[in-house]
Amino acid sequence: MKTIRVRGTSEGIPVGKILCVGRNYVEHAREMRADIPRQPVVFIKPSTAILHTGEEIIIPAVSREVHHEVELVVAIAKTGRNIPPENAREFILGYGVGLDMTLRDVQAEAKKNGLPWSMAKGFDTSAPVSEIVPAEQIERPSGLEIRCSVNGVVKQQTCVDKMIFPVEEILAYVSTVFTLERGDVIFTGTPEGVGPVLPGDTITAELVRYEKITHPVRSA
Ligand code: MG
Repeated sequence: MKTIRVRGTSEGIPVGKILCVGRNYVEHAREMRADIPRQPVVFIKPSTAILHTGEEIIIPAVSREVHHEVELVVAIAKTGRNIPPENAREFILGYGVGLDMTLRDVQAEAKKNGLPWSMAKGFDTSAPVSEIVPAEQIERPSGLEIRCSVNGVVKQQTCVDKMIFPVEEILAYVSTVFTLERGDVIFTGTPEGVGPVLPGDTITAELVRYEKITHPVRSA
């Protein structure tokens, strides 16, 4: 069973749902030629998608174009449903950085045909995630910065205060539909600068000043 790891402990928490928000930064919506959403766009990855630092991202045979999407990740501490945004913080175990790896060609084909994104977004190794930094160790979560580099070249970098829907609103919104539980993780959307990675590349994602993950890429 896949787990998330909490920084400074030996604790591994079984991963529950992986909820992901799409189009949560204006400039990324623009680069995808997509509308700015009025409600968060939500999709799910299976727990089997989780990957820990050092492990290989494996591009499945169905795709020839995989993209990196660096994202702030929020881990859930306890059960909640219909969480008011003003209470959202008490449900947050901590924060990490993740990569919403995306089979862009498979996704484009699905979009064109009005079909689900599950294969494009939920394949094995599609959800690399760092250790989770306990919320009490982060003074101002809205000031966190995330960054993604490919072979040492910075491709994406932002402060998470540029999100269209901040973390508290995301928790409130998704918890009107999904019961949140300890071990669930939420990928909160990617800023502009997404792009392809190739077999042999190495991707690094950072929660600046806190966590860093590194993943080699290979084909299946
Ligand atoms: Mg994403």
